[in-house]
Amino acid sequence: MYWNPKYECLPLEELYELQLERLKVTVERVFYNVPHYRRAFQEKGLEPSDIKSLEDLSKLPFTTKDDLRENYPFGMFAVPMSEVVRLHSSSGTTGKPTVVGYTRRDIDVWAELMARALVCGGATRNDIIQNAYGYGLFTGGLGIHYGAERLGASVIPISGGNTRRQVMIMKDFGTTVLTCTPSYALHIAEVMEEMGVSPEELKLRCGIFGAEPWSENMRKEIERRLKISAVDIYGLSEVIGPGVAIECQEKNGLHIFGDHFLAEVIDPATGEVLPPGQMGELVLTSLTKEAFPVIRYRTRDITAILPGECPCGRTGVRIARITGRTDDMLIIRGVNVFPSQVESVLLQFGGTEPHYQLIVDREGSLDTLEVQVEVSEGLFSDKVRGLEELERKLRLELESTLGINVKVTLVEPKTIARSEGKAKRVIDRRKLV
Ligand SMILES: [Zn+2]
Repeated sequence: MYWNPKYECLPLEELYELQLERLKVTVERVFYNVPHYRRAFQEKGLEPSDIKSLEDLSKLPFTTKDDLRENYPFGMFAVPMSEVVRLHSSSGTTGKPTVVGYTRRDIDVWAELMARALVCGGATRNDIIQNAYGYGLFTGGLGIHYGAERLGASVIPISGGNTRRQVMIMKDFGTTVLTCTPSYALHIAEVMEEMGVSPEELKLRCGIFGAEPWSENMRKEIERRLKISAVDIYGLSEVIGPGVAIECQEKNGLHIFGDHFLAEVIDPATGEVLPPGQMGELVLTSLTKEAFPVIRYRTRDITAILPGECPCGRTGVRIARITGRTDDMLIIRGVNVFPSQVESVLLQFGGTEPHYQLIVDREGSLDTLEVQVEVSEGLFSDKVRGLEELERKLRLELESTLGINVKVTLVEPKTIARSEGKAKRVIDRRKLV
């Protein structure tokens, strides 16, 4: 049920005391060892001794992805390279990637957090964990791997890709827990169906999925098709990798491991800290990292801090499932649109597959949104009238959810490209000046 009950269920007063003590150490560490932080603190007229309570956190400067890029590759490290035992890097889709480093102790803490996360998500030391997250510079693969070994489970380091082999190994090795992105889990389900392998032939009982935003309906779909219980895990390489937060068996928000991270939710436009319950951008501060500490890192992930306690007994902050990223958010005719909203609507309908793509374009001065949706095999061979009816219903439902006009195009099964990692949902053809 818990990996480390002492810290996962620490009474709040003790947790706050520990957090303050660790925040002070982190602030000193970055002030004296990282020129970027020293400069950023001094611009605000701050010294480490100004941090006297947890409320003082909001005085500290934000750190952005651009700050990390400007200090590429090792400028944000707070220890000499001789103490760094591992480097990871986030995918650099635009410009330089960001590089993160770990001391031996950081790797140890990360393994501890991932062991906690796996247990919280339903795994035990008796499980056979098939880890289909990518191994390499991406933190997903090795992060889960070290946690699974710390837990004492049997880990299969299969990495992403070669889906038919994934299914074969799952069956032959008796895999009980699957870890990968939710879109890849769904693709595995699809390939299983093609191969004529039914979930009843597998021992799979639980899935721990993350690294991209996904909806509650997507969870239901994965649970139904693989006949498992699916939980959401959260993390990002800039903060440590997977293992920052995870859902417990209650599936009512993700527990943040508060003895290692401080979480705030801010208004992304003004930077103002928002109260629990209000949606905004998640900001994280690391409390124990040595090589690559982060102060108020703007994750660009959109969530809210959930009020109230969880019946599981874990204390500290819970966040709502990530609904999107501030940089995935499309502004179409002045309206904010997230791909996850579209996904949620599609999954309410029978007859469509949760494979879709959003195509944004501009006709004259008017933005247009086309949603391409795959139709399931059975329905596609059906009558044209049925397809037209489905297209109309989908359009009405999408328009009422998104609040803008939408063109829906149904496409043949398996025409939208599949992803073995994070899915690409949006094609933006607008030429913005
Ligand atoms: Zn809980």
